[in-house]
Amino acid sequence: MLSKKALSINPSPTMAIDSKAKEMKSQGLDVIGFGAGEPDFDTPEHIREAAIKAINEGHTRYTPAAGTPELKEAVAAKLKRENDLSYEPNQIVISNGAKHSLSNIFTALLNPGDEVMIPVPYWVTYPELVSLNDGTPVAIETAEENGFKATLENLGKATNNKTKALVLNSPCNPTGQIYGEEELRRIADFCSDNDIYIISDEIYEHLIYGDHRQTSTASFSEKARELTIIVNGVSKSYAMTGWRIGYTASTPEIAKVMSSIQSHTASNPNTIAQKAAVAALNGPQQCVEEMRIAFDKRRKYMYEQVTAIPHLHALEPQGTFYMFVSVKEAIGKTYNGTKLSSSDNFASLLLENRKVAVVPGTGFGAPDYIRLSFATSMDNIEEGLKRINSFVEDLQ
Ligand SMILES: *Cc1c(COP(=O)(O)O)cnc(C)c1O
Repeated sequence: MLSKKALSINPSPTMAIDSKAKEMKSQGLDVIGFGAGEPDFDTPEHIREAAIKAINEGHTRYTPAAGTPELKEAVAAKLKRENDLSYEPNQIVISNGAKHSLSNIFTALLNPGDEVMIPVPYWVTYPELVSLNDGTPVAIETAEENGFKATLENLGKATNNKTKALVLNSPCNPTGQIYGEEELRRIADFCSDNDIYIISDEIYEHLIYGDHRQTSTASFSEKARELTIIVNGVSKSYAMTGWRIGYTASTPEIAKVMSSIQSHTASNPNTIAQKAAVAALNGPQQCVEEMRIAFDKRRKYMYEQVTAIPHLHALEPQGTFYMFVSVKEAIGKTYNGTKLSSSDNFASLLLENRKVAVVPGTGFGAPDYIRLSFATSMDNIEEGLKRINSFVEDLQ
């Protein structure tokens, strides 16, 4: 009998639909994928060059487990420059991607039975990582009318003496929505009053559109800063998903515990990728803005088109490269005699009949929605949305 805990973990559903679409593509089928959870751009050249240089200069050995002093300093400088937050290098831990950072955080914080509040819809990994670390994920209901954001009322109802942490992800995957500064301040005050850690996943902070701004709860007060653990990384901002570099900023005490955990579970993150991440953080930032502008064009186009499709509606994405689309009105209708019972079979019928891959909301805790990624070319978006439109028009 294998570990009961391990057997209770579901494989990532976002990766599942992506691999099914890739498999159909490899069979020569003309599949349009809206499942991508990563930028479709290449890593910028000066970052790639830094990695090649690192290899040729012999940076191929172990580094300290929590990352090189050089990269920790680059992260601290970034937090100062972009977020006006002062952290010392001993408060930074570099890991194998932000996902790994999150895993370290839950291992460092949770005792058996500790509760972690997670606003719904949530990134699929949060509840699974909490469970893997013997914690209890507690879903916090939100309303679309309120931008899918947690309210003090719902946080208050869920809080008890086992509540250890709250996960905030702004800009949010999958909803594309951003918490405003005042909303965040109230949440930070609430968490400070109740000694609740705030795990602030800021991985999409550079992908923000229009007048929206990203703020970190760490900036509000000394107490809020002690309770906030910032999670970030280079994957989404610099098109570096495959390089696997993420980081945290926290109190020195939490950072020390996470370093010890990592020293036994993973040792240091890839030495060459750390050099590349230094080049990303310290180098020219123009590439980030260029990618953001490209995403913004696609975002506007997608929002315009999707809102014109019958039975579908969505909030305009404020950040990320996702649009979270309600299919509630389509559920209950039939396609060719098959009844649509949830976004799961909406997605599978769409893939089978129109060769368009979308991610059903079930894995995000929101079964009436699908997630469309605009991290794909304008041509794909155009063609894919035409197909979705014709699929929806065939519903009876
Ligand atoms: C992509 C993503 C991450 C993880 O990124 P890494 O590649 O592991 O650095 C973390 N949080 C959210 C919400 C994401 O979408």
